[in-house]
Amino acid sequence: MARIVMKFGGTSVGDIDRIKNVANRVKREVEAGNQVAVVLSAMSGVTNQLVAWCNQMAKLPDPREYDTVVATGEQVTIGLLAIGLQELGLEARSWCGWQIPIRSNGVHGKARIESINTDRMSAAMAAGQVAVVAGFQAVGPDERISTLGRGGSDTSAVALAAALGADRCDIYTDVDGIYTTDPRIVTKARKLQRITYEEMLELASVGAKVLQTRSVEMAMKHRVRVQVLSSFEDKPGTLVCDEDEIVEKELVSGIAYSRDETKVTLTRVPDRPGVAASIFGPLADASVNVDMIVQNVSEDGRFTDLTFTVSHTDLERAREVLNGAQSTLGFERLTDDPDVVKVSVIGVGMRSHAGIAQKMFQTLALEGINIQVISTSEIKISVLIAEKYTELALRALHTAYGLDAA
Ligand code: ADP
Ligand code: ASP
Ligand code: MG
Repeated sequence: MARIVMKFGGTSVGDIDRIKNVANRVKREVEAGNQVAVVLSAMSGVTNQLVAWCNQMAKLPDPREYDTVVATGEQVTIGLLAIGLQELGLEARSWCGWQIPIRSNGVHGKARIESINTDRMSAAMAAGQVAVVAGFQAVGPDERISTLGRGGSDTSAVALAAALGADRCDIYTDVDGIYTTDPRIVTKARKLQRITYEEMLELASVGAKVLQTRSVEMAMKHRVRVQVLSSFEDKPGTLVCDEDEIVEKELVSGIAYSRDETKVTLTRVPDRPGVAASIFGPLADASVNVDMIVQNVSEDGRFTDLTFTVSHTDLERAREVLNGAQSTLGFERLTDDPDVVKVSVIGVGMRSHAGIAQKMFQTLALEGINIQVISTSEIKISVLIAEKYTELALRALHTAYGLDAA
């Protein structure tokens, strides 16, 4: 008998008929003799609505109360699915994060899972009950609900699979696998049969939201076999696995984009040792994640312009921290531009092949797209460009790297 975790995203539980469809899928796995834990997201659009309501109440809502609100979407779907499973004659019950419990570090809005005590859940599953678990939520050291960041149900599912020692973690979504780039934007995107943990980690971390980054980190650490597949069709999906399980390796495995970037510029910062630390230290203390950074020293060497990117949700906090310290930091002006997108090319082939970055710059130049910021890592190149060029850049790069489906 195998133990499996099945996770269904927002679109897959988007209405009552779809939840009934999920119930039927779960039933099939139970009838095949498996012990099943199901992890669910909120119905599509619901979490966005809950976030919007919090932001209508306050510019910077209390993060604990924000979590109390945004975690509710999942409680609805787990209850509904448990009812649906019972209607099909199965034993099932819903579990909120705190009931299991799934314990987190308590950083509200972007908490990390620290431990899961699966004793009670395991016993119920062994007795034949389907466990229907709310994704996205955990309980922190303050005994309050904390959420795991947008897309966090993927992480709930993988963490649970690791804790349960599950044989498989199947992530059901609205596309039938992981593609070379977002198939909703590039119709010529190609489905991958397999992808390494490492490449998926990079793709996710630069915006391929098909899996939340932390879920891939966790899968890699605990060697969880993750499969991404469609909840609407019976087709093989994409397996995320170790490098040695992959026969054909590509130079470039994928292209991703993130619209969740705001470019922040501080002009005329006095250039002296320690200035970067004095700017990025307080931002880190305020839990603001800074991504791409460029520094431009003025000709006389006395001043520097600093440009970096933060996510849209962190912008308000970043502004508050920096403007509050303007007199000590000594910069002249803080400007921000939300109309940017980060486009990234990923591939383990970059370790051994030169010219991959050059191809990116050339391709964008040919399309007349200006690059505002560049950053690279061992297997990744990212550029920041104007948001209006997202589709054009993705399609051109996809073709240039020979990734288009036949
Ligand atoms: P769910 O609600 O099931 O968690 P998400 O919207 O979070 O679904 O993730 C699935 C979406 O990820 C797809 O609809 C697709 O637009 C997007 N996506 C981005 N990059 C990729 C990629 N490389 N392969 C597949 N899907 C991708
Ligand atoms: N409902 C949450 C979100 O929309 C978590 C998830 O779907 O994974 O971000
Ligand atoms: Mg998701």
